[in-house]
Amino acid sequence: MTLKRFSFPLLVTGGALALAFVADDPKPVRGLDISGMDKSVSPREDFYRYVNGSFLKNTEIPASQTSWGSFNMLYDANQKNLKVLLEAAAASTVAADRKAAKGSLTQRVGDFYASGLDSVAIEKRGYDPLKPVLAEIEKIASVNHLLQYAASHPLEGGTTILGAGVGQDAKDPDVHIVSLRQTGTGLPEKDYYTKTDEATVKVRNAYVTYITTLFSLTGTPEAMARKQAEAILALETKIAASHLGRVEMRDPIKQYNKFAVKDFAAKVPNLDLGARLKTLRMAVDTIIVGQPKYYETLNDLIKSEPLDVWKSKLKFAVLNGSASYLSSPFVKASFEYSGKTLSGQKVQQDLWKRRASLTDGLMGELLGQLYVRDYFKPESKKRMDELVANLRTVFARRIERLDWMSAETKAQALRKLAAFTPKVGYPTKWKNYEGVVINRADFYGNVKALGKWRYEESLAKLGQPVDKTEWGMTPPTVNAYYSPLRNEIVFPAGILQWPFFDPNADDAINYGAIGTVIGHEMTHGFDDQGRQYNYMGMLKNWWKKEDGDLFKRKAQLVIDQYDNYTVLDGLHVKGQLTLGENLADLGGMSIAYEAFKTLTPEGKSNEKIDGFTPNQRFFLGFAQIWRNKTRDEALRLRVNTDPHSPGEFRTNGPLSNFEPFYEAFGVKPGDKMYRPDSIRAKIW
Ligand SMILES: [Zn+2]
Repeated sequence: MTLKRFSFPLLVTGGALALAFVADDPKPVRGLDISGMDKSVSPREDFYRYVNGSFLKNTEIPASQTSWGSFNMLYDANQKNLKVLLEAAAASTVAADRKAAKGSLTQRVGDFYASGLDSVAIEKRGYDPLKPVLAEIEKIASVNHLLQYAASHPLEGGTTILGAGVGQDAKDPDVHIVSLRQTGTGLPEKDYYTKTDEATVKVRNAYVTYITTLFSLTGTPEAMARKQAEAILALETKIAASHLGRVEMRDPIKQYNKFAVKDFAAKVPNLDLGARLKTLRMAVDTIIVGQPKYYETLNDLIKSEPLDVWKSKLKFAVLNGSASYLSSPFVKASFEYSGKTLSGQKVQQDLWKRRASLTDGLMGELLGQLYVRDYFKPESKKRMDELVANLRTVFARRIERLDWMSAETKAQALRKLAAFTPKVGYPTKWKNYEGVVINRADFYGNVKALGKWRYEESLAKLGQPVDKTEWGMTPPTVNAYYSPLRNEIVFPAGILQWPFFDPNADDAINYGAIGTVIGHEMTHGFDDQGRQYNYMGMLKNWWKKEDGDLFKRKAQLVIDQYDNYTVLDGLHVKGQLTLGENLADLGGMSIAYEAFKTLTPEGKSNEKIDGFTPNQRFFLGFAQIWRNKTRDEALRLRVNTDPHSPGEFRTNGPLSNFEPFYEAFGVKPGDKMYRPDSIRAKIW
């Protein structure tokens, strides 16, 4: 189970593993990549293709990838850096010439990585590590027994029935609280259970095949395995009907349902909730139930559905959760479904890449210590601190100038902005995964030990104050986030590299790239969700009603704008689902542009570089970071599930709302990039 954290990343990667790839080193390009442009496209018609057209034409997505673009290229380069660190650590821990002491950072990182590459041992063990737990599920003889299993084995399928976790209380964010969230489905979104279009049916069939394969591999005769798989799909379809959809999940108030445990337990008597929480070691008096309807439905289904179907579902959860760590038939089955069918990936990534990502995912703050030692320059942090300070100054000025907001609401907004905590590079306090023993000969055991550590860590938070130094991403991560409950903006070392950040490039490029990323994260504090939290990270309204109404009216323009973007035949961007990200893209660019224009020497000059004015270069740098080519399958999955719009619209969407862009490239009525003033969104 992963630590539940409510935050807004810059992008959703579709699982860290989906990003790695093997390819020849691209020629190092720095600053602006002119060769990726297509000057036969007018910047006034399609700025995204003007800046990225040649790149899109000349790029073939590597077979092991589902998309290829700026993020992937940086991620890939980063993987190679991690490989150097991991190989050195692994070499220093070999028994014959042991330099790294047992239990040391290097030993644990090195032996973990080495254990994951030990294919001989992994193949030999097959699915042996799961046999005891599968046998335990087989013995379940009653509903009570089943629920007891779920509560006592959260990491072995249990969380697919009881979605309990420890997190911050949104109305009292200094305090930890137990929350129950909806769970129990395996397809990407609730609509996947009911939609009848060809693409969805294909995914659903592949899901049934995947479950069937896992059961067959563990000794169930094929016909019976298929029957069980179909029964699981039927049960999950009933569960999915009780779920909130992704758009509803953007409403934090709807999901803030605080109950005395005894009161909620009375609504779901079949679950014996008090006893379950005790078994989960979450014996508390008060809980948040994010989506009560799921638990009310579970209360019925747990009795009405055959026990054997529930047991199959638990077994599948165990197999599915571990498939990537077992022998190759299991790995292959998992890839066929989630790699090939869901995302269109042609071949698997090399094992070392998958293991490097996994090491980062499971012990990223150990690996991260090595990473920042060798790959993060203190100068980068200094430059970033300056950029963040400049963006904050400008954002404050822009809030003061807003013509649609009252003085009272402005004062609160400024208070919130001033309270932002920026984090750059890496944590000031590292997690050291104390007590986790890493054994070079036991890959599965290592994965399990780290998962257990993380779970225990989250349990230990109950009753403890919130640790504000904690990070929700690891240092090598190529991403960034805003956390509304902590009111913080976080930029891991991994993203502070070209094409997002280049200490050698001119300010126009850096403000257009990392500057807009910083502005993006800041704007999340004021998007449709973030604005509902106050300066302390508390879910509490600080808006005057008229201002809130005006905000919604302005946001509606953005919803309508993105609803009209077509991604594939018949598939449109979902304006409501992507609203927060689209607002952040627009706000981020506006703030970064003004910071560039008013606070840097280049912003005030007219000197051309590569034939472009500073103003033009800002927008070129911006469009360059969203350069991306994606397979249709992955695009479809993304549009259905990801709150981020595809790169094309993250570029053209904000720009076509932005007057200075019109001026820089002479955009006029009649041009495709032009939107009439009456529908142009201007918020922050
Ligand atoms: Zn974002």
